[in-house]
Amino acid sequence: MSSPQKPRQRPDQVASRPPEAERLYKTESIVLKQVHIGEADRLLTLYTPYLGKLRVVARGVRRPKSKLAGHVEPLVHTRLMIAKGRTLDIVTQAETVTPFVKLRSGLETTARGIYCAELVDAFAPDEAPNPQAFALLVVTLGHLDEGEPDIALRWFELHLLNLMGFRPEFHQCAECGGALPLEAAAFSPEAGGILCPGCRQIAGSAEHASALAMLSLNDIKALRFIQDQQYTEARRLRLAAPLAREIEDVLRLYVRHLLERDLRSTAFVDHLRRVSPA
Ligand SMILES: [Zn+2]
Repeated sequence: MSSPQKPRQRPDQVASRPPEAERLYKTESIVLKQVHIGEADRLLTLYTPYLGKLRVVARGVRRPKSKLAGHVEPLVHTRLMIAKGRTLDIVTQAETVTPFVKLRSGLETTARGIYCAELVDAFAPDEAPNPQAFALLVVTLGHLDEGEPDIALRWFELHLLNLMGFRPEFHQCAECGGALPLEAAAFSPEAGGILCPGCRQIAGSAEHASALAMLSLNDIKALRFIQDQQYTEARRLRLAAPLAREIEDVLRLYVRHLLERDLRSTAFVDHLRRVSPA
């Protein structure tokens, strides 16, 4: 499919490597995590809208005069120029879009942001584009930067689970699809949602019965509301502390079941809550 007007290449113009432009690509990104490598480099795990999750190297970034320093910190929203490498791609330019300064300046706010990043890292498959999940992460980091309460985290969890294909079922029985009576009910991480009384009886006699979590009718209503609404609506919900904790616990139980592990940042969030109960 070559163009007929294409000028003939002289032998000295034939490069052994593809031209610069073909080796470079641009992307927006949030740095999910970083690991120090070598003397001054970092291995970054990025989340991007159209390339999904990527691992790239930021060379020399730990040197004081590095042009990349400050732009490729965890939780910073940046625009990057990346060069294709033989094994790992390499960041060549970085420009901050939103620094989320307030979010990253406090221990507790940073821990909440890192929790969101860790959740994305855990659920996002490598190189699977999901622009909606990227937008959700950016928007949520913005909420946390503005000092929004924990409801922002619950909203993030429920909407991320939805975008990753693990939407928990709160509207009908997760096992048989039957209608749920207006009453307290059991949540089954195994089934991925609430069980009707009949299915609960069957699940309750099974060996993993201990994994069921009881939810009050208010818990269920709150979960449905947060799951169904945009954040502007969801944030108006005022939850009493015990109810907020029950909702947090049931989502954590479900995430633990899906990932077969706890996220490291949840232990840190718990620790901070114990030392400074807000
Ligand atoms: Zn059922």
